[in-house]
Amino acid sequence: MKVFKFGGASLKDAAGVKNVASILQRYKDEQLVIVVSAMGKTTNALEEVVAAHAKQTGEAQKLFDALKERHYTIMRELFDEGDDVFAAVNDTFVEGDWVLEEKPADNYDYMYDQIVCVGELVSSKITGAYLNKIGLKTQWLDARDVVATDNTYREGWVIWDKTRANAEKIVAPMFAQSNFVVTQGFIGSTSENFTTTLGREGSDYSAAIFSFCLDAESMSIWKDVPGVLNADPRLFENTVKLDRLSYKEAIEMTYYGAQVIHPKTIKPLQNKNIPMFVKSFLNPDAPGTEISSDTEDNYPPIVVVEKNQALLHISTLDYSFVAEQHMARLFRKAADLRIFVNMMQNTAISFTICVPNVPDRLEQFVREISDEFKVKMEEGLELITIRHYTQETIDNLKKGKIVLFEERIRSTMHMVVKNIPVIERRETDLAGSKS
Ligand code: ADP
Ligand code: ASP
Ligand code: MG
Repeated sequence: MKVFKFGGASLKDAAGVKNVASILQRYKDEQLVIVVSAMGKTTNALEEVVAAHAKQTGEAQKLFDALKERHYTIMRELFDEGDDVFAAVNDTFVEGDWVLEEKPADNYDYMYDQIVCVGELVSSKITGAYLNKIGLKTQWLDARDVVATDNTYREGWVIWDKTRANAEKIVAPMFAQSNFVVTQGFIGSTSENFTTTLGREGSDYSAAIFSFCLDAESMSIWKDVPGVLNADPRLFENTVKLDRLSYKEAIEMTYYGAQVIHPKTIKPLQNKNIPMFVKSFLNPDAPGTEISSDTEDNYPPIVVVEKNQALLHISTLDYSFVAEQHMARLFRKAADLRIFVNMMQNTAISFTICVPNVPDRLEQFVREISDEFKVKMEEGLELITIRHYTQETIDNLKKGKIVLFEERIRSTMHMVVKNIPVIERRETDLAGSKS
């Protein structure tokens, strides 16, 4: 059994669904769990619906109806009028309507999950129905019956034992009926049967959860790039594809924000030694990138840029040294507020951290430690990580930037830099010359 994951980019329109089906046609004799994301930018659109509902702007239902219509347009291209799929998708949309008819829940994150899950639910219904229509027998699985999480809405933590037991009980027997099982990425459910989501871009992680729990032979995620590249192609020219990556290298890259794979994806696969492939849905014959084992290749410099960072310079109000008990308190607070510390450095009287600038949470952090600490915040920064750096790459990346903070640990270099217009950056050629 293998696990395949198709993201929003691969299912953005009717042609996308047909293309995914044509890829799957090649695997019709294999047992596959097919994990799908919401179509195109549906999750962003659903986030707008949630925000409008929370603020009661009066726009929520209109925005939701527009999103429904976009799905119906795709469906009309794929199915004949009166196909059962229209009623099945409508049932899911009606559940969304019910949430919007109620007063907004006090818990924003809870409400978010109950609405945003609609994207994956309808996309999997449409994909499953289309596969059946073209003769690829496929069963639809509600991922919430399998993926058990705690009730951290918008970032559900997987309860592995329970999820594994569910997968064995529910999913494994489904292969007696058909080779294909289609399900949703990104969503799970609590013990009280409320829907949770696993964090934005979490469908890759869902695929890894299914792979781990079902002891998959391999997992493939199908993207709009030829594989994992040594930098984000939207920011850099002359990127190169990495044919093979160790689990460790992939974890390092994604931990520091390489957006091609969700950071939580690799670990479960590594634990069971399940190989993962990143393949192009535009060129399914090409080999893509294989992530497996821990043998290291000779890597070129690999660059990861994480935007929207802030530096917090923290010092004690009484000018005492920043000691271990202070740091213990600061880290406890950061963990409670789910503020992820990317880099840190301390001197005798100050402690500096680089963190993603998550709205509200940083202000809350600063407020809640203000009895003991003074904080100076610098915003609008980027964290650049270079694995296997060379002096040439560093020099190229520093051009036209102010470096506020830098650190080298073995083969990794991190630097926090200020304001770099993307236009300028695209002129940076990773190979060294100006393009
Ligand atoms: P999905 O459709 O599965 O959600 P994503 O859009 O989340 O796919 O991820 C694929 C995108 O990740 C690519 O289009 C590319 O722009 C971006 N990306 C960022 N860093 C890299 C990298 N190092 N290698 C390949 N793609 C990258
Ligand atoms: N649809 C979700 C998102 O856009 C999950 C995913 O695509 O991985 O974040
Ligand atoms: Mg994505």
